[in-house]
Amino acid sequence: MDKRNSSPESAKTLPAYARVVIIGGGVIGCSIAYHLTKLGWRDVVLLERKELTAGTTWHAAGLVVCGGFSTETMINMAKYTRDLYAVLGEETGQDTGFRPVGYLELAPSREWLEGLRRVADFARSFGVPVEEISPSEVQSMWPLFDTSDLLAGFYTAEDGRANPVDVTMSLAKGARMGGVRIFEDTKVTGIKKKNGRVAGVITDRGDIDAEYVVNCCGLWGREVGKMAGVNVPLHAAEHYYLITEPIDGLHRDMPIVEDPTRYAYYREEVGGLMLGLFEPVAGPWGMKGIPEDFSFGELPPDWERLMPYIDHAMDRIPVARDAGVNKLFCGPESFTPDMGPLMGEAPELNNFFVAAGFNSLGILLGGGAGQIMAHWIVDGLPPVDVSEIDIARMLPFQNNLAYLHDRTVEQLGFMYAPGYFNLQYDSARNIRKSPLHNRLAGAGAYFASYAGWEYPDWFAPQGVEPKVDYSWGRQNWFEYSAAEHRAAREGVVLMDYSLMSKILVQGKDAEKTLNHICAGDVAVLVGQIVYTTMLNERGTIETDLTVTRLAEDSYLLVVADGFNTHLKTWLKRNIPTTAHAFVTDMTSAYTILNLQGPKSRQLLSRVTHADLSNEAFPYLTMQVIDIGYASVLALRITYVGELGWELYVPSEFAVHVFDTLVQAGEADGLKHAGLQVLETLRMEKAYRAYGHDIDNTDTPLEVGLSFTVDFDKPGGFIGRESLLKHKESGALKYRLVQFLLQDPEPLLYGSEPVFRDGELAGYLSAGAYGHTLGGAVGLGHVENEAGVSVDYVNSGTYEILVAGTRYPAKASLRPMYDPGNKKVRS
Ligand SMILES: Cc1cc2nc3c(=O)[nH]c(=O)nc-3n(C[C@H](O)[C@H](O)[C@H](O)COP(=O)(O)OP(=O)(O)OC[C@H]3O[C@@H](n4cnc5c(N)ncnc54)[C@H](O)[C@@H]3O)c2cc1C
Repeated sequence: MDKRNSSPESAKTLPAYARVVIIGGGVIGCSIAYHLTKLGWRDVVLLERKELTAGTTWHAAGLVVCGGFSTETMINMAKYTRDLYAVLGEETGQDTGFRPVGYLELAPSREWLEGLRRVADFARSFGVPVEEISPSEVQSMWPLFDTSDLLAGFYTAEDGRANPVDVTMSLAKGARMGGVRIFEDTKVTGIKKKNGRVAGVITDRGDIDAEYVVNCCGLWGREVGKMAGVNVPLHAAEHYYLITEPIDGLHRDMPIVEDPTRYAYYREEVGGLMLGLFEPVAGPWGMKGIPEDFSFGELPPDWERLMPYIDHAMDRIPVARDAGVNKLFCGPESFTPDMGPLMGEAPELNNFFVAAGFNSLGILLGGGAGQIMAHWIVDGLPPVDVSEIDIARMLPFQNNLAYLHDRTVEQLGFMYAPGYFNLQYDSARNIRKSPLHNRLAGAGAYFASYAGWEYPDWFAPQGVEPKVDYSWGRQNWFEYSAAEHRAAREGVVLMDYSLMSKILVQGKDAEKTLNHICAGDVAVLVGQIVYTTMLNERGTIETDLTVTRLAEDSYLLVVADGFNTHLKTWLKRNIPTTAHAFVTDMTSAYTILNLQGPKSRQLLSRVTHADLSNEAFPYLTMQVIDIGYASVLALRITYVGELGWELYVPSEFAVHVFDTLVQAGEADGLKHAGLQVLETLRMEKAYRAYGHDIDNTDTPLEVGLSFTVDFDKPGGFIGRESLLKHKESGALKYRLVQFLLQDPEPLLYGSEPVFRDGELAGYLSAGAYGHTLGGAVGLGHVENEAGVSVDYVNSGTYEILVAGTRYPAKASLRPMYDPGNKKVRS
């Protein structure tokens, strides 16, 4: 370990002003500083409380790999990082120690084989040439391994290992060369704010005024966030690797290996074995705060807790048992509630950016993270899809210490968990429940969790335990969910949809303000519902949403559950301070009962006096109706493609309304349905899901949402000019297309590569089984530099790659289910 002396700047006086102040001199802070200079921003100061790398960075194992990711943003971040570390030394004169020794993932079961094949398909489509190799090839790469249980290995030759201290020093050097001033032994003790913006930092050596402040404080990120009134939900955990004495047969050019079922990774270290662990029951750390003098710190190892995991991991390399242990190293790393990093502008404070919580991937994502953050700061908008990295996806409750502590116990193990699309956490559960929870549990609900909410995913028939047997094939609930699907298409289903975010915008300027923020025209009659998008200045989508006009001066905005903070922040930032328009979060106030299916009208008619006929209650309208003794907002709208109503029930009436509907529904064969079936139904209808099929990099044109935009409405809207330019520029480079596999057997989960006329054309953003269409359905991009016209899409022959096999698929720009919208208007 290379403890560096303080830089010359440490002795100097701090400047009174810098355009950007970066707090934290780990790999992330240094990478952002370096990348800001690449965009021409030189007036940047980086402050480090101790010495560069003294936090977590100095002791990282240095794995630098691109494999294992199933999303575009993550794989590109990793790839960019790897490629940067390979050449950075040439630019800065400080080598990063990167060596492409190769990276190997082990598949010891059929389930792992399928999972890794799916991940490898995706990686290859992004130019990462993962090779599937035989157990004997694994054996030849690691002769000391016991490979008897292996079915295959997945090998990426270009990946490798770097020295995290050298990486950081090289980035710091590059940053300095670009003009950044770095001050060590300088602790930030407070954040200055002015008019809702960050205004600078207070340090133990004086203040610096700044336009932008970036919190890159790793483990300390939550505390530094608090100084600014910003939630940075992360928690530290013990993180281990063991290093043995030298072992004959190990050498520094052997590939690094990940062995998820043994919760372990292996690489050579000074002739011995480095065995790193991601144990399923981890040890949170730092509950009483991080000691003030913690610098290049180590934690006392908990041998007793770790020994069973070490033992299990050594089964892979039995000879290691005979080698002496040189060290069981334990250092703290920070983990976030969903294992995604926390990046971007903080929702609570303008110009205060965060890049922390890297979940043990900070080195291998560091280069890409720095590049993304630099663009985000300089351009004001991120350059990539940020659905899974944006700090705004977090909710305030997630900063609760007990929640963070308990979730962290599970997080290390999650790193090596199989990538099942519906894999659930067991920790920190049952904290956010709709008032119907007990009723739904009684009806056999299997609960999954998102944004803290417990929501029914599917319902088990009587006598069956609601529990998932995870698999890449049809899971145990497949047929139960199929039955719910059929009930929605042919009868009527009831879903608890309470997790949706419900935001009221009220005031005499509500119409004018919202019409400027929304791309569609929301200056509609009271009682009308508008499905629209909100765009940024680039004309790309910040969110899609429904806007219901409740009154002249009142609108109800509904967005997907995970975008609550984002929507409120977007409104806050775009409603002028002088406007008479006020935002209230009604998410907790309303329970949503979603009644869908061709028999929904006949059922609802039995419990209300309202006229539900098409004439009296058309599609995309809202009325206050009575149900039993309650008054509810009934929105005639659907996300499943059927006749149906979403009922917004004041939460204290929810049980009563639920019971009334269930009782009345007996005559119609009402079935409970979970949100798993919402996914299968919406995929057949090709309804988009923000954060999956559409994101902040798409304009409505590419993703088939032009109908959510009204270019001609008076006063324009945010993003209009860019979008218009985009429209007038001609052909789109990609389009979102619906696919149906012709073979009814394979399953799609999203991220499967799409081939058009034999050539790679894109990948699926989501997939689910279309029980009505009779096969797996996906939504995905078809890309072509020369343009993707309707003809181009329709004239292609398509295949989708599923775990190494290409399956023919039908493609359509129009929804394959009910393209004419007859059902929803019936
Ligand atoms: C055992 C172990 C093995 C790992 N192996 C790998 C690996 O192989 N590959 C990989 O990609 N990742 C690995 N990681 C994870 C990786 O080390 C981290 O994700 C990464 O170092 C985080 O970098 P950072 O810059 O966010 O945080 P840090 O390196 O902790 O930097 C934050 C800095 O902020 C400073 N700071 C805090 N508060 C203040 C303040 N108030 N004022 C000024 N400065 C402040 C701290 O002193 C610290 O230097 C490993 C982690 C551990 C523990």
